[in-house]
Amino acid sequence: MVKALIKKPLKPVLTSLASRYGAHRQHSATPRLWVLMYHRILPVTDERYHLEEPGMRVTPESFEMHLQQLRKHFELVSLKDWVSAREEGRELPPKACAITFDDGWRDNYEYAFPLLKQYNAPATLFAVVDKIGTDFQFWPNIVASLLLSGAGSRFKNDPVLADAATHEAYPDQEAVAGAIKRLKSRSDAEIFGALDAMDWRAQIPSAMVPALMNWEQLLDMQASGLVDIGSHTRTHARLTSALPAQALSDEIVSSKARLEDKIQRAVDLFCFPNGDFNPEALALVKETYKAAVTTNRGINQSDTLALHELTRVGIHDDIANTPTRFDARLSGWV
Ligand SMILES: [Zn+2]
Repeated sequence: MVKALIKKPLKPVLTSLASRYGAHRQHSATPRLWVLMYHRILPVTDERYHLEEPGMRVTPESFEMHLQQLRKHFELVSLKDWVSAREEGRELPPKACAITFDDGWRDNYEYAFPLLKQYNAPATLFAVVDKIGTDFQFWPNIVASLLLSGAGSRFKNDPVLADAATHEAYPDQEAVAGAIKRLKSRSDAEIFGALDAMDWRAQIPSAMVPALMNWEQLLDMQASGLVDIGSHTRTHARLTSALPAQALSDEIVSSKARLEDKIQRAVDLFCFPNGDFNPEALALVKETYKAAVTTNRGINQSDTLALHELTRVGIHDDIANTPTRFDARLSGWV
């Protein structure tokens, strides 16, 4: 209670101070690298925006503002180039920033790519290799779609999906977010098994737009010269001890081979799904890739960084929809 009382009036002040005096504004003798983590770029008018969690989405308007702010503070770099420069002992920009997109969402092609071209901004896209060009949907979007269309009433009878049942037949966004959060204690396999058993596609009134882009779109982004493609595993499996050794190798090593075959380029970068990895996964990633990104938050210092555990700054609209709030996010303070 006391904490809440103190926090409220201080927050805008801290945000303002962080935006003006944070690490992104400071000179440092050691070159530093900010790696920004984006997922989806969707306008509010797009139906998909409303099927997505706030922590996953940024509007095109905000993304354009971000690109403008980034140009003021940083040298925008391709992560691959920055890693090569460091490996070869070349001079690094004092403050570099690399933009990354996780998963390979189709909306990245529709809404982010035109802005990357307009601002001549390099980026890295981490693709879930076996899912590109398929009608795969991530389960939180399926659950949101079912709940918002009233089909969630069938959840009550299922031992797994009952966790996501809501009081209202047509729950609001907040209730949907709560339902998804409750379901996260279950494994992906359990949830997909339950959804497939209820034939989820037949329960949703309008067909869901494919979640991920196709290979033509991915190659078009690569052909622009602005976008590098990295691996985000074959199936987005979390690389924890629950995964057998063969599956671990498939997700880490085979994903690289398959991706290289498709894009006809060397794949040097990897991204851990959900930021999870065990020691075996990390060792295999070190053997296979030049660098990898995590979901651990932080700014990378070029002298002390672990190239296979690069930290990132997650960006989503609810905390980055004004220049002040976005800059505060880059400050390393809040
Ligand atoms: Zn992911």
